[in-house]
Amino acid sequence: MAHVEMRQVTKSFGTATVIPPLDLDIAKGEFLVLVGPSGCGKTTTLRMLAGLEAVSSGRVSIDGRDVTHAAPGERDIAMVFQNYALYPHMSVRENISYAMRVHGTDKAVIAERVGEASRLLGLDPYLDRKPRNLSGGQRQRVAIGRALVRHPQVFLFDEPLSNLDAKLRVEMRTEIKLLQRRLGTTAVYVTHDQVEAMTMADRVVVMRAGVIEQAADPITLYERPANRFVANFIGSPAMNFLPARVEGGAVRVGGQVLPLPPEEATRLGPRGQVLFGIRPEHMRPSGHQASLTLEPQAIEPLGPHTLVLGHVGGERVTAQVDPRFPVRAGEPCVVPVDMTQAHFFDPVTEGRL
Ligand code: ATP
Repeated sequence: MAHVEMRQVTKSFGTATVIPPLDLDIAKGEFLVLVGPSGCGKTTTLRMLAGLEAVSSGRVSIDGRDVTHAAPGERDIAMVFQNYALYPHMSVRENISYAMRVHGTDKAVIAERVGEASRLLGLDPYLDRKPRNLSGGQRQRVAIGRALVRHPQVFLFDEPLSNLDAKLRVEMRTEIKLLQRRLGTTAVYVTHDQVEAMTMADRVVVMRAGVIEQAADPITLYERPANRFVANFIGSPAMNFLPARVEGGAVRVGGQVLPLPPEEATRLGPRGQVLFGIRPEHMRPSGHQASLTLEPQAIEPLGPHTLVLGHVGGERVTAQVDPRFPVRAGEPCVVPVDMTQAHFFDPVTEGRL
């Protein structure tokens, strides 16, 4: 039995259905990340789990208990928001203990829980400070501390790092992940940042327009995206997509011929029109190498590698090459393509072939 279950859950605002029937199972101790473009329904899904938004139909259960109509306070969950909304006039200690004090929790228990949270989060030196005297990362840790002291069954995070600068985001995502592992608490985390999703999740759920496009571990998502949308969303720079034909054991792209590895040729057969997908980082030498002639428009040296932005036929293509790879803007160049890493999608349904 799943720890958290959403069964045929829907959400409508007026006449607009933003979540058609959705099924989601989250295992005990799992770190699940909901990711997708703005407006795809991530936050709405999380808020329905939290009880902050009523479901229009369907059922939500936590640890086997039906909580579909339970108030947020009766669900044994704790939520950390993007805007951490700390009480400015209260110290860190008072902020962390606020909910327990309001509930009349025993003083000794409060002291113990605050001590435990502040130790875990490295907040001991700041307990008597006011939020205005803390850095963004420290404030975010206080917000997490507030959730932690409740010892919830489930943590819900709604883009908790989006107000932090890039360096702090990277540090905090590691901290949150380690903390969740140590506590073994089930977590559901919403972000629109695919790197955050990939690095933190045990399992990533990619959503579009309220629908789950794919739910899988990060590596599966990267290596075997279910469709063009997922393939385009996961990976940076994004996968290249080229209209192509598969025939005679090769991919034909704008007059160029890229031979397929024999087993791929057999699997695909004479397929005709396809959408050929290749990631920029897979434009590299390999045992099953083909090559593609590119008209480079721009060269972007990033240090460890260089991005070549150009065209094949009329289509834009980005290749990630070695910094020493000989290439000049305006001069056609031949880049290797690792055909063992090629992806193929149906040109109409855009599903993986
Ligand atoms: P973002 O990354 O921008 O936060 P999201 O994936 O979290 O997006 P939601 O906030 O869940 O998306 O919104 C999903 C859809 O529901 C959007 O089209 C949004 O406009 C709509 N929506 C959300 N809340 C309401 C509301 N209270 N009334 C009407 N429509 C709403």
